[in-house]
Amino acid sequence: MKIVTGHLGSVAPGGRSVTWAATGRFGGHSLPPFDELNLATYVGDAPGDVKRNLQVAAASIGLASTDLVLMQGVHGAQVAVVDQGGPVSGVEPRCDALVTRTPGVGLVALAADCVPMVLADAANAVIGAVHCGWRGLIAGVVPAALDQMNLLGADQVHAVIGPSICAKCYRVPSERVLELRGALPNAISAVACPESEVARIDVGAGVRAQLAAAGVSASKVTTLAGCTAQSRGLFSYRRDGLTGRQGMLVRL
Ligand SMILES: [Zn+2]
Repeated sequence: MKIVTGHLGSVAPGGRSVTWAATGRFGGHSLPPFDELNLATYVGDAPGDVKRNLQVAAASIGLASTDLVLMQGVHGAQVAVVDQGGPVSGVEPRCDALVTRTPGVGLVALAADCVPMVLADAANAVIGAVHCGWRGLIAGVVPAALDQMNLLGADQVHAVIGPSICAKCYRVPSERVLELRGALPNAISAVACPESEVARIDVGAGVRAQLAAAGVSASKVTTLAGCTAQSRGLFSYRRDGLTGRQGMLVRL
């Protein structure tokens, strides 16, 4: 997949709008096994190639790479509120969700099987970017990001969910389903798909269940097509091990 972009909110003169982008594997500078558009600095790719790829990704939402904020993901529920591009105090924030009210700051969530997603209330000018895997579902990073956005004035959030691994491809130990059942009793049928002694998790469905529980109705949620493990146009950690990361970007 090449970069896909879209807008939320009003594009009329004086209206507030949000631009988002979803990157895939193609259209970048990295060499195998990170080919082509790897956006992660922490996977062992050549830093110069990643920098050029980040420039490509930033340009897709009309920004420079220095306007972007990335995360050191920790599979938790920490949310960082940022107001400028680049590392905070020299390092990328340790969190799995970023929120801003500042126009021209590009928030980035990276993933390769987990869910990368963006959240946006264009009318109230609050946006977020979230990384969520099964641990993020249990930790509640999606509701935590929505809570922070609401504190900053959001009340009509839309979500765009990037490609992740589908339930068919995501077999897990049955203990993991039990953990999820404990954490998400109301969403478990949407999250875990037990089938002939093989447990499977649908993280995207879990994210949608948590969005709905937090008041983001299905009509405000867009899910981009594609399973990371099945599409050669997307990075998949489960399929390839050492590989790159695609991302979702958003800006006011
Ligand atoms: Zn799949």
